[in-house]
Amino acid sequence: MKLIIHRGTHEIGGSCVELCSEKARIIIDLGMPLADAQNEPFDSRQLEGKSISELIASQLLPDVKGLYVAEEKGVDAVLISHPHQDHYGLLRYLNPEIPVYLSKGSLALIQASDIFIPTKANLRNAATFEMWQPFTIVDLVITPQLVDHSGFDAAAFLIEGDGKRVFYSGDFRGHGRKRVLLDNMLKHPTKDIDYLLLEGSMLGRGEAIYPSEKAVEDEMAAMFKVKSTIAFVFCSSQNIDRLVSVYRAAKRAGQTTVIDLYTAYILDSLKGVSDNLPQHRWPGIRVFYFYGHLKTLQANGWDSFVKECLPSRIHKEELSRDRKSMVMIAKYNPAFTRLIGYLGDLDGALGIYSMWEGYLEKSDFRQPLQRRGIVFKTIHASGHAPEQDLKRLVSAFKPKCVVPIHTFHPKDYQSLFPDTKVHPLNDGEELIL
Ligand SMILES: [Zn+2]
Repeated sequence: MKLIIHRGTHEIGGSCVELCSEKARIIIDLGMPLADAQNEPFDSRQLEGKSISELIASQLLPDVKGLYVAEEKGVDAVLISHPHQDHYGLLRYLNPEIPVYLSKGSLALIQASDIFIPTKANLRNAATFEMWQPFTIVDLVITPQLVDHSGFDAAAFLIEGDGKRVFYSGDFRGHGRKRVLLDNMLKHPTKDIDYLLLEGSMLGRGEAIYPSEKAVEDEMAAMFKVKSTIAFVFCSSQNIDRLVSVYRAAKRAGQTTVIDLYTAYILDSLKGVSDNLPQHRWPGIRVFYFYGHLKTLQANGWDSFVKECLPSRIHKEELSRDRKSMVMIAKYNPAFTRLIGYLGDLDGALGIYSMWEGYLEKSDFRQPLQRRGIVFKTIHASGHAPEQDLKRLVSAFKPKCVVPIHTFHPKDYQSLFPDTKVHPLNDGEELIL
């Protein structure tokens, strides 16, 4: 087999891995970069108006022959590990004749998100797999394994072919709501792995203050119990574990969780995959209609969903009147600014920042809200495994070789795994396995 990491040997984001056997050629993940060449946050507008060859020439698309639209098909399949943009965000450039294999949850979330984002995946040739059920692409056997991650229904992949066994960790952790998955992986490790492609997002980031999703839920519940007015939780509506944590914390404190229509729609789109996710019709959940979400849903033929949420709809007057019992999932944008303008006095309101703090380095939206009286606190647990869990995985799996991926610190791997061979690669470099 031959391995090429087209992108991801020295960065987090933009993941793209190629594996070739004697007869098959597959790509694992086709992600959008998170940072540009100047290490600034990646602006997807720089993709606009460029041809495939221009995108490849400017290194925005990985140079993979036979992968893209308007080229002769030269790849047998694309596997997507999970529905995060840095793993699937360039799919719209894919040749539609190439099938895309992904989990049911990944497909549902990608399709639901598509109507809200300019960088739509436009999946036209999707095939869903079942976790732990092997499937074959020409002469390669792929076994997806469900992993705990902040991305929904995320998979790691065992790939077997040409007498070799390769394990792609994808993004994973062992401290989320599905932490038992890592425990099981360690108890029943996948054996005889020749190459372990291992993510290292957490290397260089230091210790987490909140070690688990459970700790996040507990701290939020404690704060909601004693709060005197409304709480705003700034988190991604794609982080389904976190939405569950907020809902459970609010419930424990006897509070109502207010979600927007977009969040309600995302959760509704996943109800066929899991019936444990909070839904707009559940007690203790209300839906706030922002005009932009309403228009987007209606324009995409989802008027029926907008109507379905009506019994749970909350208007700003009620939100303002009953603010003491409200926990609102929030995003900082002009519509939110208008809403807090209406709410008036916000002295003592809680602002919980519940995302990676790295996002704040370039622009911190909290200052104008602090001037309005909102008191901020960060309550967040990472979507990725810390060093000790990477070590536990390597010592359980005992792979013949570890290949760093999805990390800014590939050089740290060898000291982390002193007894295991580590083979760092550069983007585009070929490794015969
Ligand atoms: Zn991820």
